[in-house]
Amino acid sequence: MNDLAALKADLEGLAIEDNPQIVRQKSRDFFWYSPVLKRQLDEVCADIVVTVTSEAEVIRVLRACYAHDVPVTTRGAGTGNYGQAMPLSGGVVLNLADMNKVLEVSTGVVRAEAGAIMSTIDDAARPSGQELRLHPSTYRTATIGGFVAGGSGGVGSINWGGLRDFGNILRLRVVTMEAEPRILELSGADLHKVSHAYGTNGVITEVTMPLTAAYDWVDVLTGFDSFAEAARFADALANQDGLLLKEIAPIAAPVPHDYFLRHQKFIRRDQSVCALMVAPFAMDAFSAFASRFGGVEILYRSDLASDEDKQGLPPVYELAWNHTTLRGLRVDPTLTYLQVLYPFPDHVEKAVHLAELLGDEAPAHLEFVRFDGRNTCFGLPIIRYSSEDRLEEIIRIHEDRGCPVFNPHCYTLEEGGMKQTDAVQLAFKKEADPKGLLNPGKMIAWENPDFDFSSDQTYLFPGLAR
Ligand code: FAD
Repeated sequence: MNDLAALKADLEGLAIEDNPQIVRQKSRDFFWYSPVLKRQLDEVCADIVVTVTSEAEVIRVLRACYAHDVPVTTRGAGTGNYGQAMPLSGGVVLNLADMNKVLEVSTGVVRAEAGAIMSTIDDAARPSGQELRLHPSTYRTATIGGFVAGGSGGVGSINWGGLRDFGNILRLRVVTMEAEPRILELSGADLHKVSHAYGTNGVITEVTMPLTAAYDWVDVLTGFDSFAEAARFADALANQDGLLLKEIAPIAAPVPHDYFLRHQKFIRRDQSVCALMVAPFAMDAFSAFASRFGGVEILYRSDLASDEDKQGLPPVYELAWNHTTLRGLRVDPTLTYLQVLYPFPDHVEKAVHLAELLGDEAPAHLEFVRFDGRNTCFGLPIIRYSSEDRLEEIIRIHEDRGCPVFNPHCYTLEEGGMKQTDAVQLAFKKEADPKGLLNPGKMIAWENPDFDFSSDQTYLFPGLAR
């Protein structure tokens, strides 16, 4: 970077890190889940990391980087999976981890700085009997700003839907990347300009989120003789309007036994499992429902487990969502995964059919969610990886059967999402980041407006040649 010395002089007094090892570490996220991204992005590195503690410092960094034409990639905790927080053009990683105060809790609402960790937000909300509606399984490490900019949903989505559904984010404060950065307050439909935009069109400094009633959720593992039974039970449970659950995840054998090492003692190798979080007051009704359904073995429930049994067990949400894959990768580093939507109303049949078709090459893992008012499921099947060609083939097998894949082996917004331009996000980028300095290479519509999403081509950001 040509103007590094001049930039550093402009940023004097701020926390600047240029130790190559630390800069490299802060330039990485969980991109290595994907063998494809590992090949493409392993060398990606920023020039410096600047850690800010206030919105005024964010503005100072953006003003200086704009003046020197230096790219800026914002970072929360760096738990994203697709190289989202990786600076493809180098430049500055803007670290918001120290901007982490919970500012205000009131009835139904919390306001926090963007770098606040989600479990810390809940710690602040719990004395009032409240908690966040939904959180990723990285609840104990990820920031609320990173979730809003890079996440999609998670634990709680069975009741509240996805993160970008109306009402699940209330207000965002955003700083623009201009000669004189502006502070914008976004609400209503304007939230879609920056939510899930990977920080390509603004830096979120403050987040206002809705809260709901908090419970000491009971972790439950139920066992089944087949994945089809686990999936059908999960679907029936999701449709029980009177039962309050926060998490419903059927996972095919032998994943639970082989990869949930701390829970292994409760699970047979041939058992598929449904991982659940149930409200304590709903446990009796849940047990009655499970015994009427039939074929359900309660393997573990945290409310009845002895202290000895509970010793060292992670919470159930850290067996679900992308923690399922992580636990697999810790045992077998050659694994990878996909992200699939099984559309309503034949979601269960589709998921079971694909599980049976692909067998042990793609052990199934479903996450039940409320999607436009209907219960359906996403899947994060584990893939026993053999080659990039076969991975593409497995993706096609899903899409040919009407199950869209949100490809986690691509680093761009569009390819990991709906495979089309998001006109709202693009228009806001033109306004808020006219030089295209924020997280370059992640929005194809900006980098290459003529890119043909219907072609089989994968987009390659020219800046990566660096
Ligand atoms: P980062 O990884 O630091 O950033 C994510 C993206 O947002 C990047 O593009 C970054 O540039 C941008 N960004 C960060 N902060 C800001 C800001 N203040 N302003 C503008 N842009 C910003 N995701 C889910 O949705 N649901 C899950 O259940 C889930 N489970 C996961 C489990 C595991 C084990 C792993 C590794 C990942 C999982 N993820 C999940 C992905 C990820 O953890 C979440 O999206 C998380 O919320 C990201 O937060 P973060 O602070 O780590 O963000």
